[in-house]
Amino acid sequence: MNPEIYLIRAYGRDDGFRCIPWGIVSIASYLKKRGYKLLIADRKEGGYSLRRITREIRGRDIAYVGVSAMTCQSQDAAFLCGHLKKMNKNIILGGLHYSIYPDEGLKIGDYVFKGEAEQSLLGFLQNGPGAKIYEPRPLLSLDDIPLPDEELMKRLYVNKSNFTIMTSRGCPYACSFCLDRKYRPERIRYHSAPYVCDLIEMMNKSFGVTGVFIGDDVFTINKNRAIEICGEIRKRGLKVTIGCFTHSGIDDLELYEEMKASGFSGVSLGVESGCDEVLQAMNKHQTVAQIRKTIEVIKKSGLRINVMFMVGNILETEDSLKATLALARELCLNGWVSYAQPFAGTAFREDCPKYGRIINENPATYWNDRISFVPHGLSRRQLRYYRNKIAVSIKAPVR
Ligand code: SF4
Repeated sequence: MNPEIYLIRAYGRDDGFRCIPWGIVSIASYLKKRGYKLLIADRKEGGYSLRRITREIRGRDIAYVGVSAMTCQSQDAAFLCGHLKKMNKNIILGGLHYSIYPDEGLKIGDYVFKGEAEQSLLGFLQNGPGAKIYEPRPLLSLDDIPLPDEELMKRLYVNKSNFTIMTSRGCPYACSFCLDRKYRPERIRYHSAPYVCDLIEMMNKSFGVTGVFIGDDVFTINKNRAIEICGEIRKRGLKVTIGCFTHSGIDDLELYEEMKASGFSGVSLGVESGCDEVLQAMNKHQTVAQIRKTIEVIKKSGLRINVMFMVGNILETEDSLKATLALARELCLNGWVSYAQPFAGTAFREDCPKYGRIINENPATYWNDRISFVPHGLSRRQLRYYRNKIAVSIKAPVR
C-alpha cells in the first residue's frame, strides 16, 4: 500500500500577496492522482495550529511529513520540524528557502527537495530514499498536474473575491532582486487554455470564486497564448473578474483590449524606479520611457493599473529617489512601494557588499516595509522619507 503523506506550508508574515500554497497543492494533486493518500495544511492562511496538525498526524499512519517554506516562513518551519521530530516523524523539506539552503533543511529534517518536486517526490516514494538532497525535476507538460483536488482544497482558505491561480511556470527575465536563474528554470511552461478555464470554472462553481488573480510572473509574455485564454473565457461565458502581472515593454493594445473584453479588470506592473541607471542596475529590461508608453497603452484599453515601486536598490542616490517620487506623482496610479530586500539566491544580495550595507541579517524579517539594505551615500532616514512620500503619491491597490 502507498504511504500516507502530510504536507504543510509554514507560517510567515503576510506581505500583501495572499495565495494558497500552490506548491504543495500541485504536488498533492499530482501524487493523489497516482494513488497516494495525502493531507495538506496551511499554517499561513488556513488556521492550522500546532495542536490541530498534531491531532491529525497522531490519528493516522503518516509515513512522511513535508514542510514547505519561503525565507520569511523558515522560522516557523524550524519550530514545526522540532515538534515533528519529537513525534518521530520522517521530515521532508521543500520550498524556496530550502532550495537555496538545503543544508539548513537537513539540520531540521531528513530530506530536502529543491525546486519543482512533483516528479522527484514521486520517484522517492516509489523507489525509497536514495539521497538526502534531491535536485529539481521540472515538469515539461504542466497539464500533467491534475486540477486541484477538491477535497484537499476544502482544507484551505479560499479568497472568493481575489483568488490567485498559477497558469505557467518560469520567467524569461532576470531581475537582480528576484531569484537567480540558477535556482529556477528559465524556460516557460504553460497550462493549456482549456486547463486554465477548467480551473477558473471549478473554483467558480465549487468554491464561489468571483475574482481571480493570475499570479504568473508575466502572464502577457506570450500574446498568442494570452489571447487563446481570453477566447476560451468568452466561449465558456465565464463571469469572473481577472487580474494579472504584465511587464513594461509589452505595449500591445490589441492584447490588452482582448483581455479587457474577456473580463480582465486590471493588470499589475513593476515600475520599480524612475531612474534609468537604477533600472539598468536591477537588470529590469525596461526604461522610464517604456514604462510611460506601456502605461499609456494599457490605459487606452480601459484596464486598471496597479504599479509597484521599490526603493533602496543598488546605485540608488537621492537624485534617483527624487526621480522615482516624481514618476509616482506623474503616473498617479494605484499600487505599492517597498524597500529592496537582499534575499538569498538573488544577484542583488551578491552585490550588496559592493554597493552598500545590509543592516538586517534576519531574512525571516525581510518585509516590504522594513529597511534591510542601505546603499552607499544614503541614510535610513532618507530611504524612509522618500518611501513614505511615494506611498502617499500612490493610491491603494485596486482590483
Ligand atoms: S521580478 Fe518578475 S519579471 Fe523579474 S525575474 Fe522575477 S518574476 Fe521575472
